[in-house]
Amino acid sequence: MAAQDRALQTEYCATEVLNTETDSKCRLCQQFDETIDRIMSACPILAKEQYIKRHDRVCAQLHFNICQGTAVQLDKKHWYEHVPKSVETNPGGKVTILWNQQVQTDRTIPNNKPDIIIRDNEKGTCMLMDVAISGDRNAIKKGSGEDSKI
Ligand SMILES: [Zn+2]
Repeated sequence: MAAQDRALQTEYCATEVLNTETDSKCRLCQQFDETIDRIMSACPILAKEQYIKRHDRVCAQLHFNICQGTAVQLDKKHWYEHVPKSVETNPGGKVTILWNQQVQTDRTIPNNKPDIIIRDNEKGTCMLMDVAISGDRNAIKKGSGEDSKI
């Protein structure tokens, strides 16, 4: 609850709100004020590994739920144990779920590797899913797709 309300004891909070004699900079990168928003989505040290892990776990849960929803046989009972396979097909072959696969296109597209592709083999259609976990200040940019148009 404290994190959601942005009321965690950060260095910025200690310096600016409680007026302690501390440095308000991030304890990891020393580059920006240590605010909840910066910790959640903008620290260059956390970006190297922790944000990628978070993104991949969200995608794995989404993949797990899609597999369950399309009757794909799963090895694990819980989403947090689920390790997505590159290709999954449901019984009868009506739906194929692709994980982290490059899409072949007739022109060069910089970001053509969506996280999940759900292919309806009867209709011949695909749904591309790309997950972005952005901070509040980047939500409008990410939501518009302006950084990843295909
Ligand atoms: Zn930092």
